[in-house]
Amino acid sequence: MDRELLRRHLERIREMGISELFYSPTSPEDKRAMSPSERERIEEGKRAPQGPAVSEAESDHPLDEINRVIRSCTRCKLSEGRMNAVPGEGDYNARLVFVGEAPGAEEDRLGKPFVGRAGKLLDRMIDALGLKRNQVFIGNVLKCRPPDNRDPEPDEVEACSPYLDQQLDIIDPLVIVALGKFSAQYLTGSTLAIGKLRGQEIKRGNAVIIPTYHTAACLRFPDYKKPVWEDLRKALQIIRERERKS
Ligand code: SF4
Repeated sequence: MDRELLRRHLERIREMGISELFYSPTSPEDKRAMSPSERERIEEGKRAPQGPAVSEAESDHPLDEINRVIRSCTRCKLSEGRMNAVPGEGDYNARLVFVGEAPGAEEDRLGKPFVGRAGKLLDRMIDALGLKRNQVFIGNVLKCRPPDNRDPEPDEVEACSPYLDQQLDIIDPLVIVALGKFSAQYLTGSTLAIGKLRGQEIKRGNAVIIPTYHTAACLRFPDYKKPVWEDLRKALQIIRERERKS
């Protein structure tokens, strides 16, 4: 890493409110320690174009089929106020998946997940992990924006969650990072507060769920950034260990 890259990396870390140095898995030393397949995957991610090569409308990938259904879904009352449904996006073979609560105003406007301020913070954390956004999958429990960003209601979660279940079944990730209370409670089936769920590793099929705070909460409470960063590092570590064993 040259001096300018190192300086920008340190600035990103400081913006996240963390004063200690991160371990970056793409440093030259770490790259040398990686297996050839790990190095190849990182390089592939850098070369990969943003977005799918084939448009959703043309693709017969099962996830694109689900996206099309979501975009015209009227299964709950949230369909009435949305500008765009937000199915989620990213690598359809991702080992790491992030699941948040629901789209916000910016996501509703653009039809893309995590593109507001909380999304930008998530992007910086993904970058600091040494990954690209298009190497992970990012989605939400609800695919349409609740009015005024209110909490999801039980009937909405019940109506919408089968889409998330199908997406996770198809992607079959190794780790799912559950961002915030609603995501963590839905994915784990627990009613515990996020502060109690955080720190646990919970199995869901083939995946391990890592509950952590939502990046929107990190913007309100900067002290949350450090535990979230630690959880993301743990997620990456679990993926590497599981890949090594397979
Ligand atoms: S929130 Fe989910 S169930 Fe409700 S209309 Fe949107 S896609 Fe359909």
